[in-house]
Order: sequence, then C-alpha cells, then structure tokens
Amino acid sequence: MAKSTLSELKKEAFESNMGVFESGLVVLTWGNASALDRSQGIFAIKPSGVPYSALKWQDMVLVDLDGKVVDSTLKPSSDTLTHLEIYKGFKNINGIVHTHSEWATVWAQACKSIPVLGTTHSDHFFGEIPCIPYLSESKILASYEKETGIQIVDFYNKNSLNPQYVPACLLGGHASFTWGETSNIAFQNAVALESCAKMAFLSLNLNSKIEFPDYILKKHFTRKHGENAYYGQ
Ligand SMILES: [Zn+2]
Repeated sequence: MAKSTLSELKKEAFESNMGVFESGLVVLTWGNASALDRSQGIFAIKPSGVPYSALKWQDMVLVDLDGKVVDSTLKPSSDTLTHLEIYKGFKNINGIVHTHSEWATVWAQACKSIPVLGTTHSDHFFGEIPCIPYLSESKILASYEKETGIQIVDFYNKNSLNPQYVPACLLGGHASFTWGETSNIAFQNAVALESCAKMAFLSLNLNSKIEFPDYILKKHFTRKHGENAYYGQ
C-alpha cells in the first residue's frame, strides 16, 4: 500500500477517535475507533491506553485482517480482535467505534434493547438497537475480545438483522459498538445512538406504554437510506 494511503487511513481513524472524545462520548480511555481499507485488508486503530489528550494521528496502529500489527511501535487497542471479527463478519462496513457513552451503557447494563420510540431513532436505525446477551464464561476465558466480535456477528446473522440498517448494538453488561461505511459514519452513528438512548430512557419515564407506529419508522428510514432515499442534497 502506498505510504500516503496508509497515512490517510491513520488520519481517518484518528479523526473518529478524537470525534468521540471531543463530543463527550468517551472519558479517560474508555473507547476506540478504527478505519479499514478493505482492498488492502488493513485497518488503523487507536493504540492501547494512550490518553486522547496525547494522541497523534501517527500513533494509530495498522493491523491486518489476520490480527498482525503491520506498522507501529505501540500496542493496538485491547479491543482490536473485536473490531477484526466485526470487519470479517460484516462485509460492507469500513469503520467501527466502541464507546462506553453513558446513556447507551445504561441500557447495556440493564440488558435491554433500545426500542424505536420516534423519528430521531427511525432516521438512523431501522428497528430497535439490540442488546446482545452476556458472553459465556468459557468464551470469556478462551478469547474474550475475539468472541465478543463473533457474538455480535452471530447475533445479527441468527436474527436476520442487516448490519447496514441497524449499525449499532449493545453488549449486555458492557457498552456499545457502532459501525458504518466509513469510520466517520461509525462515529456519527455513535452520536445518534447516545442521543436515542437518552431520549428513549426519558420518554419511557413519561409514558411506559409508547407504541410508535411501524409505518412512520419505515417512512423515516427509507427517505434517508436505500434506493428510494430523497433526504438531503
Ligand atoms: Zn468496552
């Protein structure tokens, strides 16, 4: 791969990592973002444990789809194998964001999927944000981060969920992963998820029996996504 392209990939991952930090989705080092060049089978990801305030784009670690570090003196994020499994399982995505943003994590810790309650959610996610069950002890002991990625992909496959239509999930007892066609879209989906998680919690406090119509969900999602989208310029 040309050196300039590698630099671009690192810069793309860096922008998403700084995006989640600057938008308040991440405190301390509780998150990571990556960007994939699928034609080369290489992704750039945040180095492990480096504070965001000290992070530089040059610090992003390049890893191939076998999990081998191809360029860095730093160790990649401890969640690298989760990113890798999601990239292998979801063929049309090139960016992943993991955060412990508070409202989404509240739902994850309660082990509850986030229901569709309005058009804000419908604009981004075509259905509820699923909460994926706890990993078994044997999987956690065997290869925690790798099995986390496999658990996400398996859940989508078993439940016939389209990862491009529902580009976010919660992990029971843990937090969220979002993804997208690019790392920047994955970041935007993390922002949307956090906002929807907060609004859903508060809405259900006012009315625990909301029944948001499916036809409004369909209308709002399809005007922004898919073949007949007409939202925007
Ligand atoms: Zn985490």
